[in-house]
Amino acid sequence: MKTLLTSVAGMRNMLELARTHRCRILQASTSEVYGDPLEHPQRESYHGNVSPTGPRACYDEGKRCAETLCMDYHRMYGVPVKIIRIFNTYGPRMAPDDGRVISNFIVQALRGEPLTVYGTGGQTRSFQYVDDLIEGMTRMMRTDDAVTGPVNLGNPEEHTIAELASEIVRLASSPSRIVYSTLPMDDPKMRKPDIAKARHELDWHPCVALEQGLIETINDFVKCVDICL
Ligand code: UDP
Repeated sequence: MKTLLTSVAGMRNMLELARTHRCRILQASTSEVYGDPLEHPQRESYHGNVSPTGPRACYDEGKRCAETLCMDYHRMYGVPVKIIRIFNTYGPRMAPDDGRVISNFIVQALRGEPLTVYGTGGQTRSFQYVDDLIEGMTRMMRTDDAVTGPVNLGNPEEHTIAELASEIVRLASSPSRIVYSTLPMDDPKMRKPDIAKARHELDWHPCVALEQGLIETINDFVKCVDICL
């Protein structure tokens, strides 16, 4: 309930603020609006495959509704909204206990604990380094008022979760083994952005390859290993 209401009521509050002060406003939307996608890679024109009642719906539907609110404020009041759909992002200073896959795997690898792959590990994600995302966000905010998005921001380099686990074990020189457990309900089977629109409208593309980004992230986690872990 907190996730859903923050996404929707929180966005309405921010849109009112932007309307009052005549500001442009960035909506940090998400690849989750595509749900468990039936189109691959995902273009902005794809309307997605989201379960409205499943355990992820509070986030997915909350963010979808926030996009709707943005476009209504744009059409009704001329608020310059900028909607970006952020695909899986990682990098230094992630919270080690945020529960997402890269932070989980790095913490597990550094502790020598088993890496917990959910399901078979055959599901895919496309991981974007944080610096690339920031560059894309900055470019989006500099566009003309007529550019509302949504625009995908992500790295189209797609990997299975099993590949990711092996890569993190290798890069962290970890003795950890890999274990398999139950796949959460509604976990998307694949995800990869089509970034043609970002290339065209923002002249943007990601520059940091997964190996390079993981090395930076592992080095950052090592620094706080005694404090945080
Ligand atoms: N995952 C995993 N082990 C973990 C955490 C996540 O295998 O310890 C899987 C998860 O089931 C999903 C993928 O990794 O298929 C990405 O999960 P995350 O929560 O990072 O992002 P999202 O599912 O929201 O894309």
